[in-house]
Formats: sequence, structure tokens, C-alpha cells
Amino acid sequence: MKQAFLITPRKIEIRDVPDPEPSEGEVVVKIQTALTCGTDLKAYLRGHSLIPMPGPFGHEYSGTVYKTGKGVEQFKPGDDVMGVHSAPCLECIYCKKGVYNLCETIMDQKALGAFADYMVLPERVVRQNLYHKPPQLSYEVAALLEPLACVVHPYNKLDMDNIETALVIGAGSVGLMHLAYLKMKGIKVIVSDFLDARLDLAADMGASRALVPRAVMNIIESMTGNAGVDLVVECTGQQGVWEKSVNYVRRGGTVVLFGGCPSDTTVSFDAARLHYDELHLMGSFHFAPADVKNAYDIIVDNRIDLSMLISGEYSLENMEKAFVLIEEGIGIKYAVRPYII
Ligand SMILES: [Zn+2]
Ligand SMILES: [Zn+2]
Repeated sequence: MKQAFLITPRKIEIRDVPDPEPSEGEVVVKIQTALTCGTDLKAYLRGHSLIPMPGPFGHEYSGTVYKTGKGVEQFKPGDDVMGVHSAPCLECIYCKKGVYNLCETIMDQKALGAFADYMVLPERVVRQNLYHKPPQLSYEVAALLEPLACVVHPYNKLDMDNIETALVIGAGSVGLMHLAYLKMKGIKVIVSDFLDARLDLAADMGASRALVPRAVMNIIESMTGNAGVDLVVECTGQQGVWEKSVNYVRRGGTVVLFGGCPSDTTVSFDAARLHYDELHLMGSFHFAPADVKNAYDIIVDNRIDLSMLISGEYSLENMEKAFVLIEEGIGIKYAVRPYII
């Protein structure tokens, strides 16, 4: 089969590799669509600690079951499926405490290599985080299951009934998914970004206001009577933006720090604001199986329209063009399909 390998930053090679065979509990999926993601872009531009080079990459996928290993009963060849690339062990200290997204080995058995004809899914994923794709759902939208699972993850810990206004900082793919989710919950959402095309898309997806960052404070003041928004969601992963994000939230409000900064980053916040205004700063990483199920239900019930996030499609051979475009700020996510020319 053909598989895309990231050789060094900015160098993708399509290699011929043996077709994968499933071991016990595993499923081999024929990829119908794999999506580019911010993590892939980071890896493409400068390498990524969780994506070894040279090596296969791509982790957002939908497809058709090609072969199943011994003991797999819930899926059979020919079934259309949508899934994520990791699942918890259910045995470590964190799994026992129910914080499955923090499982000690969640990344050890992950499936990487969706930019390919086929991909093998580990037993854990098959057992916990793989679903049947309904026929009416497109492969492209089905492949958004993994990023949407990440996006819904922080919200099950928040009292959503008390959130009426929110600011989403950064209108890339995850920022726009946060917007769609919060809109679904009936929340007024302001979105900020530097790029006009992304702000236009945010407006199309129902943002109450979509603005460049310098215009945000005035709008929040007039919208909330100087109080600040109930919720801020930081989606840029930039140190300066993390630090500024607390400026927009009301007393007692929550800031979800969703965008990951480079690993040696430190940030500082005004201690008086944190203490006397009782701000809640909340990190958010990855997802638990319940988040995958939640995201699956939202997608399958068509509760939000995410089709606008797919900006185009490329064959495996031409997939590098997708990263070039995203780097230039053109488009949000691209579909990579092994079977188009
Ligand atoms: Zn992703
Ligand atoms: Zn675990």
C-alpha cells in the first residue's frame, strides 16, 4: 500500500509499504478520508515530539473495515467506520480515578498513519473508541470525530447553564468547532482572529461578533456592561495570548486554555485577579471515551454543521499542497483521499 511519511520538516515522501495485517482485537481500515490537523501542520513545519520522523502521520480518519483480527465481533469487513486514534488502558492510576484522558499510556498505543491506503487500529481503540458511520454522513465530516472529541472535553466539567457569553480566541479549526459547540448550547460567542477569511467563516458559522483582537475589549465591555464574558476559550497556544486571555473574563468566570504552548513555555498572571476575582483557569488535553461518544452523537444527530471546516481535498500524492495552503492562511482543514487523482 501507499503511505505518506514525514521525513524531515517540510519533506513528505509517499512510500510503498506492506499492507497491514490485524492482530487479535485489531481492525484494518481502508481509509476513505484523512484530515489535516494543527498537530500535523506543527509536525510538518518543525517536527513534533509525538510524531517521530521519519515516520507515518495523520490521525483523523474515516473509512471502511478491510480486515478484522481474531475476537473482533462488533465490526466486519465492509462496515463504514469513524473513530479516533487512541484509547485509555483502564488500569493505571489515572484511569482508576476516571480521568481517562490523562491515562499514563494513552499515547503509547496510538494509531498514526491515516495518510495512507490502510491503517491498523489498536485493540483498545476498536474496543472503546470506534463507531459505525451512518450512510448519510459524509466521510469528511465523519473524520472530524477526533478533533470534536477534544473540543467537547472541557465542557462536561463546567456549569454550562451559567454561561451566556463566551470569547473564542483563534478561529482555526478547533476555535471554529468551539464556536459551533457553544452556539449549539445557546451561548453568544465572540470570535477573534487576525485573518479576514477566518473571521468571515466564524460569522457564517454564527458568531455574534467576529473581530480582530484589538477590537475585542470594546465589544465585550458594551456586550456585558463592563463585566467581561462568562467564558474565554484560548485556541492559539501562544504565551502572550494565554496571558491576555484572563483580561476578558468576568469575576468568577472560566478561562479554558485549549491551545498548547511549546513545552518550555512559562506564563504569568495577575495574582490579585486570580484570587479576588476567583478566576478559574482550566487546562484541557485530549479526550476520554465519553467525549468521543458525545462528539459522535453530535455529529450523527447533525446538531452542528461542521462541513464548512473542510476547505478542499487532495490525493495522497498531492497532500503537501494542503499544508502549504494552511501555512499561508488559506483554508481550515483539507481532506486527503487515497483514491482520487
Ligand atoms: Zn487532530
Ligand atoms: Zn490508563
